[in-house]
Amino acid sequence: MSRERTYQTEAVVLRRRNWGEADRILTLFTPLRGKIRVRAVGVRKPASRKAGHLELFHRATLFLAKGRDFDIITQAETVEAYSPLREDLIGSAAASYAVELLDRLSPEESENAAAYRLLVRTLEQLSAGGDPALALRCYDLKLLEYSGYKPELSLCTVCGGEIRAEDQFFSPARGGAVCPRCADRAEGRFPVTLAALKVLRHIQRSELEEALQLPVGKSTLEELESILQRYIQYLLESPMRSRKFYSEVSRPRGEGGV
Ligand SMILES: [Zn+2]
Repeated sequence: MSRERTYQTEAVVLRRRNWGEADRILTLFTPLRGKIRVRAVGVRKPASRKAGHLELFHRATLFLAKGRDFDIITQAETVEAYSPLREDLIGSAAASYAVELLDRLSPEESENAAAYRLLVRTLEQLSAGGDPALALRCYDLKLLEYSGYKPELSLCTVCGGEIRAEDQFFSPARGGAVCPRCADRAEGRFPVTLAALKVLRHIQRSELEEALQLPVGKSTLEELESILQRYIQYLLESPMRSRKFYSEVSRPRGEGGV
């Protein structure tokens, strides 16, 4: 264990809440320490020099001093503000979803460098103005894997048999595919098309940049969202606020949400 009183880390801001008169407690995600909570002293004062570097989903280099309850930010410098996201309602809703999912799936102080890289690349992708629908599904699948919840999509999670080229079922409780012959034995399972299953498997075995290039039709994308959200909902046990918001702002008027 290091006895250093101060340290430096890069971080993305996942969540903020007010603390005392002028402070904030920030939930950060870092490459080497995973999720941590720290205190930003005086950032709600108008003259604070740190405040502009510590907005939600900001990526910054931070200097911190060890504290009794929370480590304290002594200095902050922006690495990337993802400014385009802040001027775009759908983009900022998508980014809010990304940080909330990471926050909800991650225990504190648990290194997950792959999840950090995924978050940064996804924020870059969203910031570049691409369609967030596929980017978020790639993010869901990769993050589930890096967090220890990789869905099993090649073998039936009941009989262990190889998944054949036919429509299947998915069971959130079993964490993966269920073949038609086992469907009656898997509680809470729902049908999935072979097309959706193939896309999910393709994303799983591809690098992110490659997966983002996949041509995926609108109805398949909607099915991917439905499958992954039912699984995520099962894991988290309570709804994600940012998901509801994203659904509201990203759907054309008159269309119902999933
Ligand atoms: Zn089976």
